[in-house]
Amino acid sequence: MPLVKKGDTGPEVREIQRMLSESGLRVTVDGKFGDRTEAAIKLFQKRNGLISDGVVGPKTKAALQRETKKRASSDLSSGSPSSAGKGGTFYVVKKNETLSEISRKVGVPTTLLSKINGIQNPNFVREGQKLKIPEGSMPDKTPNAAGSKGAADVQPPTSEINNLRSLEVGRIYTPEQLKGMLEALAPVAGSLSISRGSPVPGSRSDDSKKLKQGLRVALTFDDGPFSVTTPVILDTLKQNGSSATFFIVGSMAVQHPDLVRRIISEGHILGNHSYSHSALRGLSPKDLYNEVRRANAIIQNLTGSSPKFFRPPYGDFGKNVIDVAASHDLTAVAWSNVAFNDYPPPEDPEEFIRGLTASLTDGYTIMLHDGLWSTVNLLPKLMKSLKNAGVKIVPLSEVLDATS
Ligand SMILES: [Zn+2]
Repeated sequence: MPLVKKGDTGPEVREIQRMLSESGLRVTVDGKFGDRTEAAIKLFQKRNGLISDGVVGPKTKAALQRETKKRASSDLSSGSPSSAGKGGTFYVVKKNETLSEISRKVGVPTTLLSKINGIQNPNFVREGQKLKIPEGSMPDKTPNAAGSKGAADVQPPTSEINNLRSLEVGRIYTPEQLKGMLEALAPVAGSLSISRGSPVPGSRSDDSKKLKQGLRVALTFDDGPFSVTTPVILDTLKQNGSSATFFIVGSMAVQHPDLVRRIISEGHILGNHSYSHSALRGLSPKDLYNEVRRANAIIQNLTGSSPKFFRPPYGDFGKNVIDVAASHDLTAVAWSNVAFNDYPPPEDPEEFIRGLTASLTDGYTIMLHDGLWSTVNLLPKLMKSLKNAGVKIVPLSEVLDATS
């Protein structure tokens, strides 16, 4: 079987991309094997215990086919609740389905669904996710039944945040730099399988201590503020004497002005993460402008100063997006932990922390998501791991100076 690799084009590549996409990885199914497809392949290979070389040979292709098949069979049960034994039922989330739609289908408010499934942000449901439906609730056969309005009320006015993830690469200031950044980051993804077996900071071996001595990294948290998780993150940062940058969503900020002020008063930086967390590149120029402007205005009103940094939702660094950010004196900032995304939540948090720590380089920007309990829970351990490795957590501006 011929290998499929970077630079290839055609139906074979399209088929690979389709399978990657169905496996929950974000790629454009365009039949062109570029940097993003390669990064997705590497991630897929890593997750499946294969050699992470970004080249699709027989083993990778077989694994992709298995994964796609597995997903397809679980889709059979999607769209309707299935038995989960005693204690209720499960609902398998369909593609592009939102929690409020599911709420209407199963007749359970989004607040309750969120609570019993540990979902902090109602936008974070993903295809294939199994949601527990509480015992005694009745699937609602009429989609527009009463109660749907109440469910919609608790949904923040953000569009689908699910599935962002995992492929956006590097720290990027201009679209022109994107390609170079992608290439620069490729070795990081490629080293994953190696780092797993090598000594890592925080392990028992004394030799591995201070492995990253003196490296400067920045911490960033996206998508908040959230009433429950943001205060916990702030407490953790305070306990560690560390500062971070919060890329906040304007529509969330207006709901939690007190938290926005607390972020600033505790010495952190606020960044603009758009008003509604939409995919910006496809918006009309006017809508795009308003997404950036409104979030800036909200931050300005609440804190008395305009943000300096901007991170587009979904790592959407289109030229039009960068230009509008620049017209607001905002520097567009991506992130470095492409291969160590906190969403979907890592299956093994300890391994996630070890891998992330081992991948750090000077000027690294760590991106984590506010609104996820899994992230909140691993944060103290991550901070400890960074400390043990001798890493310095510095403000974002310092990291950008170091690498620009
Ligand atoms: Zn986001």
